[in-house]
Amino acid sequence: MSKLPNVTTSIFTVMSKMAAEYNAINLSQGFPNFPVDERLTDILARLAKENVHQYTPMAGYPPLMNKIANLVQSSYNRIINPDLELLVTAGATQGIFTSILALIKTSDEVIILDPSYDSYESPVLLCNAKPVRVPLNDDYTPNWETIEKACSSKTKMIIINNPHNPTGKILTENDFLALEKLLSKYPEIIVLSDEVYEYITFEERHISAHTKEFLLNRCIMISSFGKSFHITGWKIGYVVAPEYLMKEIKKAHQFLVFSVNSISQATISEYLDVVDVNLLGKFYQEKRDYFQKLLQHSRFELKPCEGTYFQVASYATISNEDDIAFCKKLIIDHGVAAIPISTFYSDHKDQRLIRFCFAKDDFTLESAAKKICNI
Ligand code: PMP
Ligand code: GLN
Repeated sequence: MSKLPNVTTSIFTVMSKMAAEYNAINLSQGFPNFPVDERLTDILARLAKENVHQYTPMAGYPPLMNKIANLVQSSYNRIINPDLELLVTAGATQGIFTSILALIKTSDEVIILDPSYDSYESPVLLCNAKPVRVPLNDDYTPNWETIEKACSSKTKMIIINNPHNPTGKILTENDFLALEKLLSKYPEIIVLSDEVYEYITFEERHISAHTKEFLLNRCIMISSFGKSFHITGWKIGYVVAPEYLMKEIKKAHQFLVFSVNSISQATISEYLDVVDVNLLGKFYQEKRDYFQKLLQHSRFELKPCEGTYFQVASYATISNEDDIAFCKKLIIDHGVAAIPISTFYSDHKDQRLIRFCFAKDDFTLESAAKKICNI
Protein backbone atom coordinates (compact mmCIF):
# COMPACT_ATOMS: atom_id res chain seq x y z
CA MET A 1 0.00 0.00 0.00
CA SER A 2 3.03 2.29 0.14
CA LYS A 3 3.08 4.97 -2.53
CA LEU A 4 6.87 5.16 -2.26
CA PRO A 5 7.90 1.56 -1.56
CA ASN A 6 11.58 2.10 -2.34
CA VAL A 7 12.03 5.33 -0.41
CA THR A 8 13.85 5.09 2.91
CA THR A 9 15.07 7.76 5.32
CA SER A 10 17.25 10.25 3.41
CA ILE A 11 20.98 9.55 3.52
CA PHE A 12 21.51 13.11 4.85
CA THR A 13 19.42 12.31 7.92
CA VAL A 14 21.04 8.89 8.37
CA MET A 15 24.60 10.22 8.20
CA SER A 16 24.01 13.32 10.34
CA LYS A 17 22.33 11.19 13.00
CA MET A 18 25.17 8.69 12.98
CA ALA A 19 27.76 11.50 13.11
CA ALA A 20 26.04 12.86 16.25
CA GLU A 21 25.83 9.39 17.81
CA TYR A 22 29.57 8.77 17.38
CA ASN A 23 30.59 12.37 17.98
CA ALA A 24 32.18 12.52 14.54
CA ILE A 25 32.98 15.68 12.57
CA ASN A 26 30.00 16.07 10.28
CA LEU A 27 31.04 16.73 6.66
CA SER A 28 28.04 14.76 5.39
CA GLN A 29 24.76 16.73 5.17
CA GLY A 30 25.31 20.05 3.38
CA PHE A 31 25.04 22.94 5.82
CA PRO A 32 27.46 25.62 7.01
CA ASN A 33 28.65 25.49 10.64
CA PHE A 34 29.96 29.05 10.92
CA PRO A 35 27.94 31.97 12.34
CA VAL A 36 25.69 33.79 9.90
CA ASP A 37 26.25 37.43 8.99
CA GLU A 38 25.52 39.63 12.02
CA ARG A 39 23.74 42.11 9.79
CA LEU A 40 21.18 39.39 9.14
CA THR A 41 20.68 38.48 12.79
CA ASP A 42 20.50 42.19 13.73
CA ILE A 43 17.67 42.72 11.24
CA LEU A 44 15.96 39.59 12.55
CA ALA A 45 16.18 40.79 16.18
CA ARG A 46 14.83 44.22 15.30
CA LEU A 47 11.99 42.88 13.16
CA ALA A 48 10.98 40.40 15.86
CA LYS A 49 9.55 43.39 17.77
CA GLU A 50 7.63 44.67 14.78
CA ASN A 51 4.39 43.60 13.18
CA VAL A 52 5.69 40.85 10.89
CA HIS A 53 4.16 37.85 12.59
CA GLN A 54 1.01 37.21 10.59
CA TYR A 55 0.37 35.52 7.25
CA THR A 56 2.02 37.18 4.29
CA PRO A 57 0.17 37.18 0.97
CA MET A 58 0.12 33.68 -0.49
CA ALA A 59 2.86 34.15 -3.09
CA GLY A 60 5.22 35.99 -0.75
CA TYR A 61 5.92 39.11 1.32
CA PRO A 62 5.54 41.94 -1.24
CA PRO A 63 8.75 43.86 -0.40
CA LEU A 64 10.71 40.59 -0.67
CA MET A 65 9.05 39.79 -4.01
CA ASN A 66 10.27 43.12 -5.39
CA LYS A 67 13.79 42.59 -4.03
CA ILE A 68 13.96 39.12 -5.58
CA ALA A 69 12.87 40.59 -8.92
CA ASN A 70 15.73 43.13 -8.57
CA LEU A 71 18.16 40.32 -7.66
CA VAL A 72 17.19 38.31 -10.74
CA GLN A 73 17.60 41.43 -12.86
CA SER A 74 20.99 42.41 -11.43
CA SER A 75 22.31 38.83 -11.54
CA TYR A 76 20.97 37.77 -14.93
CA ASN A 77 19.62 40.85 -16.65
CA ARG A 78 16.17 39.23 -16.69
CA ILE A 79 13.12 41.31 -15.92
CA ILE A 80 10.38 39.34 -14.19
CA ASN A 81 6.95 40.40 -13.04
CA PRO A 82 6.90 39.46 -9.34
CA ASP A 83 3.09 39.40 -9.25
CA LEU A 84 2.81 36.88 -12.05
CA GLU A 85 6.08 34.95 -12.28
CA LEU A 86 7.41 34.57 -8.73
CA LEU A 87 6.61 32.42 -5.70
CA VAL A 88 8.40 32.38 -2.34
CA THR A 89 8.57 28.83 -1.01
CA ALA A 90 9.57 26.92 2.12
CA GLY A 91 13.02 26.20 0.72
CA ALA A 92 13.88 24.90 -2.72
CA THR A 93 12.52 21.50 -1.66
CA GLN A 94 8.96 22.78 -1.50
CA GLY A 95 9.44 24.74 -4.73
CA ILE A 96 10.50 21.57 -6.53
CA PHE A 97 7.76 19.42 -5.00
CA THR A 98 5.01 21.95 -5.63
CA SER A 99 6.05 22.57 -9.25
CA ILE A 100 6.10 18.86 -10.05
CA LEU A 101 2.83 18.22 -8.21
CA ALA A 102 1.11 21.06 -10.06
CA LEU A 103 2.33 20.24 -13.56
CA ILE A 104 2.95 16.50 -13.90
CA LYS A 105 0.06 14.18 -14.68
CA THR A 106 -0.39 10.41 -14.43
CA SER A 107 1.74 8.59 -17.04
CA ASP A 108 3.83 11.67 -17.94
CA GLU A 109 7.55 11.00 -18.09
CA VAL A 110 10.13 13.18 -16.37
CA ILE A 111 13.80 12.98 -17.26
CA ILE A 112 16.09 12.97 -14.24
CA LEU A 113 19.83 12.71 -14.68
CA ASP A 114 21.82 10.05 -12.86
CA PRO A 115 23.37 10.79 -10.36
CA SER A 116 20.94 13.36 -8.97
CA TYR A 117 19.94 15.05 -5.75
CA ASP A 118 17.22 13.07 -3.99
CA SER A 119 14.30 15.53 -4.20
CA TYR A 120 13.21 14.95 -7.78
CA GLU A 121 12.07 11.36 -8.08
CA SER A 122 9.59 11.03 -5.20
CA PRO A 123 7.27 13.88 -6.26
CA VAL A 124 7.18 12.38 -9.77
CA LEU A 125 6.21 8.99 -8.33
CA LEU A 126 3.56 10.59 -6.11
CA CYS A 127 2.00 12.01 -9.30
CA ASN A 128 1.80 8.43 -10.68
CA ALA A 129 4.17 9.60 -13.37
CA LYS A 130 7.37 7.95 -14.53
CA PRO A 131 10.88 9.13 -13.67
CA VAL A 132 13.21 8.28 -16.57
CA ARG A 133 16.78 8.24 -15.32
CA VAL A 134 19.48 9.10 -17.86
CA PRO A 135 23.12 8.57 -16.88
CA LEU A 136 25.57 11.45 -17.01
CA ASN A 137 28.87 10.81 -18.82
CA ASP A 138 31.78 9.52 -16.72
CA ASP A 139 33.02 13.10 -16.26
CA TYR A 140 29.49 14.06 -15.09
CA THR A 141 28.69 16.11 -18.18
CA PRO A 142 25.18 15.51 -19.58
CA ASN A 143 25.03 13.14 -22.53
CA TRP A 144 22.59 15.02 -24.76
CA GLU A 145 22.33 12.18 -27.26
CA THR A 146 21.20 9.77 -24.56
CA ILE A 147 18.87 12.40 -23.14
CA GLU A 148 17.32 12.89 -26.56
CA LYS A 149 16.92 9.15 -27.01
CA ALA A 150 15.01 9.06 -23.72
CA CYS A 151 12.57 11.75 -24.89
CA SER A 152 9.19 10.79 -26.32
CA SER A 153 5.71 12.23 -26.72
CA LYS A 154 5.17 11.28 -23.06
CA THR A 155 8.07 13.41 -21.81
CA LYS A 156 6.75 16.43 -19.93
CA MET A 157 9.78 17.70 -18.05
CA ILE A 158 13.58 17.56 -17.96
CA ILE A 159 15.16 18.34 -14.60
CA ILE A 160 18.62 19.90 -14.55
CA ASN A 161 20.68 20.85 -11.52
CA ASN A 162 23.37 23.45 -12.14
CA PRO A 163 25.79 23.62 -10.27
CA HIS A 164 25.31 19.95 -9.65
CA ASN A 165 24.95 18.22 -6.29
CA PRO A 166 26.85 15.95 -5.59
CA THR A 167 29.45 16.24 -8.39
CA GLY A 168 30.15 19.99 -8.33
CA LYS A 169 29.89 20.08 -12.13
CA ILE A 170 28.49 23.13 -13.95
CA LEU A 171 26.81 23.38 -17.34
CA THR A 172 28.56 25.06 -20.30
CA GLU A 173 27.34 27.14 -23.23
CA ASN A 174 27.55 23.97 -25.35
CA ASP A 175 25.20 22.20 -22.95
CA PHE A 176 22.65 24.97 -23.40
CA LEU A 177 23.06 24.84 -27.20
CA ALA A 178 22.37 21.09 -27.09
CA LEU A 179 19.37 21.64 -24.81
CA GLU A 180 18.01 24.30 -27.15
CA LYS A 181 18.33 21.97 -30.12
CA LEU A 182 16.61 19.16 -28.25
CA LEU A 183 13.76 21.36 -27.01
CA SER A 184 13.15 22.71 -30.52
CA LYS A 185 12.09 19.17 -31.46
CA TYR A 186 9.83 18.72 -28.41
CA PRO A 187 7.62 21.80 -27.94
CA GLU A 188 5.71 20.17 -25.06
CA ILE A 189 8.70 19.61 -22.78
CA ILE A 190 9.34 22.06 -19.94
CA VAL A 191 12.55 22.33 -17.94
CA LEU A 192 12.96 22.51 -14.18
CA SER A 193 16.31 24.09 -13.41
CA ASP A 194 17.47 23.61 -9.82
CA GLU A 195 20.07 26.33 -9.32
CA VAL A 196 20.29 26.48 -5.54
CA TYR A 197 24.10 26.80 -5.76
CA GLU A 198 23.86 29.54 -8.41
CA TYR A 199 26.22 31.91 -6.56
CA ILE A 200 28.72 29.19 -5.61
CA THR A 201 30.90 28.69 -8.68
CA PHE A 202 34.64 29.06 -8.95
CA GLU A 203 36.93 29.35 -11.99
CA GLU A 204 34.04 29.30 -14.47
CA ARG A 205 31.04 31.61 -14.41
CA HIS A 206 27.63 30.12 -13.63
CA ILE A 207 25.39 30.09 -16.70
CA SER A 208 21.83 30.37 -15.49
CA ALA A 209 18.73 29.25 -17.35
CA HIS A 210 17.51 32.80 -16.57
CA THR A 211 19.90 34.07 -19.25
CA LYS A 212 18.67 31.79 -22.02
CA GLU A 213 15.97 33.33 -24.19
CA PHE A 214 14.77 29.93 -25.44
CA LEU A 215 14.04 28.83 -21.85
CA LEU A 216 12.23 31.87 -20.49
CA ASN A 217 8.81 30.67 -21.57
CA ARG A 218 9.27 27.03 -20.63
CA CYS A 219 11.50 26.84 -17.58
CA ILE A 220 10.88 26.69 -13.83
CA MET A 221 13.79 28.19 -11.91
CA ILE A 222 14.50 27.07 -8.37
CA SER A 223 16.62 29.13 -5.93
CA SER A 224 17.35 28.89 -2.20
CA PHE A 225 18.34 31.56 0.31
CA GLY A 226 19.45 28.66 2.52
CA LYS A 227 22.49 28.21 0.29
CA SER A 228 23.07 31.82 -0.68
CA PHE A 229 22.93 33.27 2.87
CA HIS A 230 24.21 30.28 4.93
CA ILE A 231 20.76 29.80 6.53
CA THR A 232 19.66 26.30 5.50
CA GLY A 233 17.41 26.03 8.56
CA TRP A 234 15.29 29.05 7.61
CA LYS A 235 13.88 27.10 4.66
CA ILE A 236 13.16 30.01 2.35
CA GLY A 237 13.57 29.70 -1.41
CA TYR A 238 11.78 30.86 -4.51
CA VAL A 239 10.48 29.75 -7.86
CA VAL A 240 10.45 31.82 -11.05
CA ALA A 241 8.27 30.55 -13.89
CA PRO A 242 6.33 32.00 -16.81
CA GLU A 243 2.82 33.11 -15.90
CA TYR A 244 0.98 30.11 -17.43
CA LEU A 245 3.06 27.67 -15.38
CA MET A 246 3.18 29.83 -12.25
CA LYS A 247 -0.62 30.05 -12.20
CA GLU A 248 -0.74 26.26 -11.79
CA ILE A 249 2.14 26.13 -9.31
CA LYS A 250 0.40 28.70 -7.10
CA LYS A 251 -2.80 26.62 -7.08
CA ALA A 252 -0.90 23.73 -5.48
CA HIS A 253 1.18 25.99 -3.22
CA GLN A 254 -1.83 27.55 -1.55
CA PHE A 255 -2.96 24.16 -0.28
CA LEU A 256 0.49 22.90 0.67
CA VAL A 257 1.57 25.79 2.87
CA PHE A 258 -0.55 28.77 1.75
CA SER A 259 2.27 31.19 2.63
CA VAL A 260 5.73 30.77 4.15
CA ASN A 261 7.41 32.08 7.31
CA SER A 262 6.76 35.81 7.56
CA ILE A 263 9.63 36.98 9.76
CA SER A 264 12.21 35.14 7.67
CA GLN A 265 10.83 36.72 4.52
CA ALA A 266 10.84 40.20 6.05
CA THR A 267 14.40 39.74 7.33
CA ILE A 268 15.74 38.47 4.02
CA SER A 269 13.98 41.33 2.27
CA GLU A 270 15.94 43.93 4.27
CA TYR A 271 19.16 41.91 4.14
CA LEU A 272 19.03 41.94 0.33
CA ASP A 273 19.68 45.71 0.53
CA VAL A 274 23.09 45.20 2.13
CA VAL A 275 24.41 41.80 1.09
CA ASP A 276 26.46 41.14 -2.05
CA VAL A 277 25.73 37.65 -3.39
CA ASN A 278 28.64 37.97 -5.81
CA LEU A 279 31.11 37.52 -2.92
CA LEU A 280 29.88 34.00 -2.23
CA GLY A 281 31.86 32.30 -5.01
CA LYS A 282 35.18 33.70 -3.76
CA PHE A 283 34.28 32.81 -0.16
CA TYR A 284 33.66 29.16 -1.01
CA GLN A 285 36.51 28.97 -3.52
CA GLU A 286 38.87 29.79 -0.63
CA LYS A 287 37.23 27.06 1.46
CA ARG A 288 37.50 24.54 -1.39
CA ASP A 289 41.16 25.42 -1.99
CA TYR A 290 41.99 25.21 1.71
CA PHE A 291 40.21 21.87 2.12
CA GLN A 292 41.93 20.46 -0.98
CA LYS A 293 45.32 21.67 0.34
CA LEU A 294 44.67 20.06 3.72
CA LEU A 295 43.90 16.76 1.97
CA GLN A 296 46.68 16.85 -0.61
CA HIS A 297 48.78 14.25 1.23
CA SER A 298 45.85 12.03 2.12
CA ARG A 299 45.25 8.75 0.27
CA PHE A 300 42.00 10.07 -1.18
CA GLU A 301 41.91 11.21 -4.79
CA LEU A 302 40.00 14.49 -5.06
CA LYS A 303 37.75 15.03 -8.07
CA PRO A 304 37.35 18.42 -9.80
CA CYS A 305 34.91 20.79 -8.08
CA GLU A 306 33.59 23.66 -10.23
CA GLY A 307 30.78 24.78 -7.94
CA THR A 308 28.64 23.91 -4.85
CA TYR A 309 30.23 23.32 -1.44
CA PHE A 310 30.85 19.62 -1.99
CA GLN A 311 34.09 17.79 -2.68
CA VAL A 312 33.90 14.32 -4.21
CA ALA A 313 36.76 12.00 -3.27
CA SER A 314 37.74 8.49 -4.34
CA TYR A 315 38.93 6.00 -1.72
CA ALA A 316 39.63 3.29 -4.33
CA THR A 317 43.25 2.94 -3.21
CA ILE A 318 42.26 2.69 0.45
CA SER A 319 39.47 0.12 0.61
CA ASN A 320 37.40 -2.28 -1.43
CA GLU A 321 34.33 -1.83 0.70
CA ASP A 322 31.19 -0.36 -0.86
CA ASP A 323 30.73 3.34 -0.22
CA ILE A 324 27.96 2.98 2.38
CA ALA A 325 30.03 0.55 4.44
CA PHE A 326 33.07 2.81 3.98
CA CYS A 327 31.17 5.90 5.20
CA LYS A 328 29.95 4.05 8.26
CA LYS A 329 33.49 2.94 9.03
CA LEU A 330 34.74 6.47 8.44
CA ILE A 331 32.41 7.66 11.20
CA ILE A 332 32.99 4.83 13.67
CA ASP A 333 36.73 4.28 13.22
CA HIS A 334 37.95 7.70 12.08
CA GLY A 335 35.45 10.25 13.42
CA VAL A 336 34.47 11.92 10.14
CA ALA A 337 31.09 11.76 8.38
CA ALA A 338 30.65 11.91 4.58
CA ILE A 339 27.95 10.93 2.07
CA PRO A 340 28.25 7.80 -0.12
CA ILE A 341 27.83 8.84 -3.77
CA SER A 342 25.98 5.63 -4.72
CA THR A 343 22.90 7.02 -2.94
CA PHE A 344 22.51 9.62 -5.71
CA TYR A 345 22.21 6.90 -8.37
CA SER A 346 18.92 5.19 -9.21
CA ASP A 347 20.75 1.83 -9.37
CA HIS A 348 23.01 2.62 -6.36
CA LYS A 349 26.06 2.34 -8.56
CA ASP A 350 29.07 2.11 -6.26
CA GLN A 351 32.32 3.64 -7.54
CA ARG A 352 34.22 3.99 -4.26
CA LEU A 353 33.31 7.68 -4.14
CA ILE A 354 32.19 9.81 -1.21
CA ARG A 355 31.16 13.46 -0.79
CA PHE A 356 32.57 15.85 1.80
CA CYS A 357 30.87 19.18 2.59
CA PHE A 358 33.46 21.96 2.99
CA ALA A 359 31.00 24.67 4.15
CA LYS A 360 32.70 24.58 7.55
CA ASP A 361 34.91 26.89 9.62
CA ASP A 362 38.65 26.43 9.20
CA PHE A 363 39.05 24.70 12.55
CA THR A 364 36.49 22.04 11.57
CA LEU A 365 38.14 21.51 8.17
CA GLU A 366 41.57 21.24 9.82
CA SER A 367 40.36 18.80 12.49
CA ALA A 368 38.60 16.66 9.87
CA ALA A 369 41.60 16.75 7.55
CA LYS A 370 43.90 15.51 10.34
CA LYS A 371 41.69 12.48 10.77
CA ILE A 372 41.28 11.93 7.02
CA CYS A 373 45.05 12.12 6.44
CA ASN A 374 45.59 9.40 9.04
CA ILE A 375 43.55 6.88 7.07
N1 PMP B 1 18.40 21.19 -4.53
C1 PMP B 1 19.66 20.83 -4.27
C2 PMP B 1 20.53 20.44 -5.40
C3 PMP B 1 20.13 20.81 -2.97
O1 PMP B 1 21.39 20.45 -2.71
C4 PMP B 1 19.26 21.19 -1.93
C5 PMP B 1 19.65 21.17 -0.51
N2 PMP B 1 20.60 21.12 0.00
C6 PMP B 1 17.96 21.57 -2.23
C7 PMP B 1 17.54 21.54 -3.54
C8 PMP B 1 16.99 21.94 -1.17
O2 PMP B 1 17.17 23.25 -0.74
P1 PMP B 1 16.35 23.85 0.49
O3 PMP B 1 17.13 23.53 1.71
O4 PMP B 1 16.26 25.32 0.19
O5 PMP B 1 15.02 23.20 0.49
N1 GLN C 1 20.94 19.37 0.24
C1 GLN C 1 21.64 18.93 1.40
C2 GLN C 1 22.80 18.03 0.96
O1 GLN C 1 22.92 17.73 -0.21
C3 GLN C 1 20.78 18.13 2.32
C4 GLN C 1 19.45 18.67 2.62
C5 GLN C 1 18.65 17.67 3.39
O2 GLN C 1 19.11 17.13 4.36
N2 GLN C 1 17.50 17.37 2.90
O3 GLN C 1 23.55 17.64 1.78
